Amino acid sequence: MALEDLNWQIYDCKKCRLWQGAKHGVPGEGPLNATVMLVGQNPGADEDETGRPFVGRAGKFLTKILTENGIKREDVFITNIVKHISPQNRKPYPDEVAACMPYLNTQISVIKPKIIVLLGASAKDTPRLEGIEYMQVIHPSAAMRFNKMGIKFREQIAELAKRIKAISN
Ligand code: SF4
Repeated sequence: MALEDLNWQIYDCKKCRLWQGAKHGVPGEGPLNATVMLVGQNPGADEDETGRPFVGRAGKFLTKILTENGIKREDVFITNIVKHISPQNRKPYPDEVAACMPYLNTQISVIKPKIIVLLGASAKDTPRLEGIEYMQVIHPSAAMRFNKMGIKFREQIAELAKRIKAISN
């Protein structure tokens, strides 16, 4: 399936309750041949406003740290476990995660990334496929607020950069 068609399905989706409080579905963005996919929990207020993933403060911080490590944001595919904002930014309920999971599954099978980076513990539900390397990192919103987590996050993204280099050599 073309991802553009999938995006339209997401914009029109009513498979769980989350669409009701949302302005925009946020399918994710990035190149179809991305080596790296980043997966977060759910869109926040800035993402809901714009329909784009990780464009708020945490997203800008993420982009900065990626850039510092030689990773261009436009080279990675960024998405979330669920594609609509949740009320008060609460953790999505299991039935919402289950309802939305086929979209992430399709994105992974179309893009076929070599590495999937799980942004925060809530991305742990991301489907595990053979042949893909998974990296769990601290969520950028925690990393930018807490010094120790920020240091660890920088180390984790530096490690990601090394792994990307190893794959491309
Ligand atoms: S969160 Fe996912 S399953 Fe729920 S309405 Fe949005 S796109 Fe559909």
